[in-house]
Amino acid sequence: MTYQTCMKCGKILPEGSLKYIVSINILADFEGILLESFEDIDGEIENIIEELREMDPVVMERDIQQKIAFHLCKNCKDQFASDPLSTGEEASSPQDKTQGMLH
Ligand SMILES: [Zn+2]
Repeated sequence: MTYQTCMKCGKILPEGSLKYIVSINILADFEGILLESFEDIDGEIENIIEELREMDPVVMERDIQQKIAFHLCKNCKDQFASDPLSTGEEASSPQDKTQGMLH
């Protein structure tokens, strides 16, 4: 019988058991604005092309887009969903807002 393990707590997740795939897609948010002003724009473009040639393509791709996916058990999925940015504060949900309004 094949099984996977929760990538956070290591719990065994047998085939057919309740488990989750958390998929994260990180994208560079380029707004098309360059803050620096260049007097020699042609020279600057050549410099940028030269820098890109020297960069590791894997690192360059990771700086633009990175996809991460991992299996979690229900407990770890619930923990992740309640605080995905690890801020120590629970992510707000419409249910939380309703509870807040009742107090
Ligand atoms: Zn887990």
